[in-house]
Amino acid sequence: MTDFKTPLPLVELHCHIEGTVSPEMALKLARRHNIDLSHILDGDGNYLASDFAEFIKSYDAMAQAIRTAQDYFDLTYDYYAKAAKDGLCYGEIFFSPAHPEPFGLTYEAYVDTLSAVADKLEADFGLIVRYILTCVRHEGVEHAEATARFAEKHPHPKVVGFGMAGHETQGHASEFKKAFDIAEGAGLHLTCHAGELAGPESIRAALDAFSLKRIGHGVRCHEDPELVTELADRQIPLELCPSSNVFIGIFGSLDDHPFRDYFDQGLKVTLNTDDPAFFDTDIRREYERIADTHNLSPADLLTISRNAVDAAFCDDATKQRLKARLDDWADNCL
Ligand SMILES: [Zn+2]
Repeated sequence: MTDFKTPLPLVELHCHIEGTVSPEMALKLARRHNIDLSHILDGDGNYLASDFAEFIKSYDAMAQAIRTAQDYFDLTYDYYAKAAKDGLCYGEIFFSPAHPEPFGLTYEAYVDTLSAVADKLEADFGLIVRYILTCVRHEGVEHAEATARFAEKHPHPKVVGFGMAGHETQGHASEFKKAFDIAEGAGLHLTCHAGELAGPESIRAALDAFSLKRIGHGVRCHEDPELVTELADRQIPLELCPSSNVFIGIFGSLDDHPFRDYFDQGLKVTLNTDDPAFFDTDIRREYERIADTHNLSPADLLTISRNAVDAAFCDDATKQRLKARLDDWADNCL
């Protein structure tokens, strides 16, 4: 990608808001709230995250430093300002209102802040950001339904989707059907983490239970070739996060990742960072790494960005603007 005259417009659909916080931003927030984060940083100032357990420990400790509307404004702007300079033209990000609730930040105030930072990012960089209200699977069914009800009570044009993250092995997807129905009734598009920490049966369960527009990860669908065929036939987008998958140990290296097979099999694949501050990645590096390891051409990478625009949860007018940007890049740079 480095030889492009103009950077390819990049699109990201799967990223968790707390997972974007760089160590520098975390320290800034920690100073603001008088919190010590030295135990989760190494001598070079990076997060300690050598394995999944350490990652969770560092993530949870860091998240304690995020408390106020101003914190969310600052960290969201910080992440997306950098991503915009790397060529990001559209981003969707997961947010969970349960996180700041104990610190007194209401859902309405949280969403107003997210909306304000999206306005500033669009004004400053032309970057469009939208939000996915997200419940945490291992927090249980009642939590999931309560999360969905926020969308019902306080709809907002920049909150465009509903998702479920968390420990995929806990609870059957069908138990969460009511939560997804509430969110869908409130006009939100649906996605669900599946086929990451559990196998293809988890993807099937989620597809059976919810009217999903996309699958969060879905990367283990290759374990069931019939499912791969079905996903390709139905053109259900996969929010793939290769560096995250390698970090968590699903694949030994990017060379072992099935991205190229999925691309060649006609699956609607997209590229994403998941928790970039912890997985030593950003959206541009994600495109570059997969291009390098899987021998993808600039036209292939354009297809990935186009897939993501097709799969985006924003309104059609916004999609048309994004498609025009990609067409313009193709006309001038391919
Ligand atoms: Zn995720």
